[in-house]
Amino acid sequence: MRNTYDTQLLFELSQPNRRAARFPACDVPVRPAEELLPSSAVTSIPPALPELSEPEVVRHFVNLSTRNMSVDTHYYPLGSCTMKYNPKRNERGAALPGFLHLHPLQPDATIQGMLRMLYELQGYLSEIGGLSACSLQPAAGAHGELTALLVAAAYFRDRQEHRTKVLIPDNAHGTNPASAAMSGFSAVTVQTHANGLVNMHDLAEKIDEDVAVFMMTNPNTCGVFEPEIRAIADLVHQQGGLIYLDGANMNAILGIARPGDSGADMMHYNPHKTFSGPHGGGGPGAGPICVTEQLGSYLPVPVVAREGDRFYLDYQRPKSIGRVRSFFGNTGVLVRAYAYIRTHGPDGLKQVAQNAVLNANYLLAQIKNILPVPQGDRCMHEFVATAAELKRTRNVSAMDIAKRLLDYGFHAPTVYFPLTVQEAMMIEPTETESKEMLDAFAHTLAVIVEEDPELLHHAPHTTPVSRPDEVKAARQPILAY
Ligand SMILES: *Cc1c(COP(=O)(O)O)cnc(C)c1O
Repeated sequence: MRNTYDTQLLFELSQPNRRAARFPACDVPVRPAEELLPSSAVTSIPPALPELSEPEVVRHFVNLSTRNMSVDTHYYPLGSCTMKYNPKRNERGAALPGFLHLHPLQPDATIQGMLRMLYELQGYLSEIGGLSACSLQPAAGAHGELTALLVAAAYFRDRQEHRTKVLIPDNAHGTNPASAAMSGFSAVTVQTHANGLVNMHDLAEKIDEDVAVFMMTNPNTCGVFEPEIRAIADLVHQQGGLIYLDGANMNAILGIARPGDSGADMMHYNPHKTFSGPHGGGGPGAGPICVTEQLGSYLPVPVVAREGDRFYLDYQRPKSIGRVRSFFGNTGVLVRAYAYIRTHGPDGLKQVAQNAVLNANYLLAQIKNILPVPQGDRCMHEFVATAAELKRTRNVSAMDIAKRLLDYGFHAPTVYFPLTVQEAMMIEPTETESKEMLDAFAHTLAVIVEEDPELLHHAPHTTPVSRPDEVKAARQPILAY
């Protein structure tokens, strides 16, 4: 049983003059601030900082940390997000002093190790994606989308082609249309079939010489590999457009299929998903992009380059769209991705994809006896179940099930996405879970759908906070204390 002490803020716990550290008396003459600084910069009111002992601060933060679910504490089948286990060796790699303590303004000659790591990572990502040019700068997947669309815009500007539209399937991640709008294009929706695949008739109707880019996710957000990928690419290329591949689902095809080989011109990676790396809660990610050779000259500066044994930052790229991120990007996440790729090697990466697909299909085979899975019999690394029938017959929603799972110690799947499936529950088991865990999850789901609807409407019953008012939280957030 938690006491109210835990829920108080550090400011509320504060007691005058309580300290976490004691400093020896100052042994040099002390001069008043007014003598050292202009009076406008000096305040007579001390800052309102909380005054606490060290154990109080430690308990406060450690207790808060146990109120959340995480990949390290719970099974986390959050579809699309690929919440797989992050090997601790990657953390150790990122924390090596030679990476951690660099200053981004150090001369190239003193950061050769970092530059070599980044250079090699550019090469690995190009090889895995089948696209020869790479930029590590974007700070997240969404930022990679935006950067690539700016690259596409620069490419068409250079060719003096005025193209205004970006086509996006209706089941795409919300970042796709947002990136299109932010980069100055208008987003046009392309219909998909019930199984999540692109409606080729609708695409053929909407593709014309105004279309700059077709953005697609493959495997798509229903966890199905697009069999028409080549035909789609041909259709778009015939009209002079480019194919953008949202690479969030790369963990399903690593070492097996390369987007560049099936016609993609640009793609992003989410290293924090595909190559392991802490994410969620707004933590740092990265969004490297790879593009074809003809688009390479428009990539952001600097690109990490090599001349003989020397690695350097190449700014001499006159067609570049410029910078999209300070310094070299989120290098901590990139070191983790590098460590992950090097640890597995080509065969290991292929096995990652095979296990992701095997785990998802094993779980699908069990879940479809509990909740319908509209797109059928096989999936890639994730699948979308629906609680629509349960909602009709017993008034139990996807949200009720998601909330109840928390009581059983499982993080919920992604719910209500993609929007094309009613009462959607998007389940991605990931490759790092055991058979026992997948069995336990399926068993728990089977128990929940039989439970009293009233119990489910008020779940979770065991978490520190039950059901916040999500509409109010989104519309009227209280962000200041
Ligand atoms: C996660 C995700 C994104 C956005 O990536 P971030 O790194 O969160 O910005 C884009 N598309 C899909 C399909 C995703 O799953």
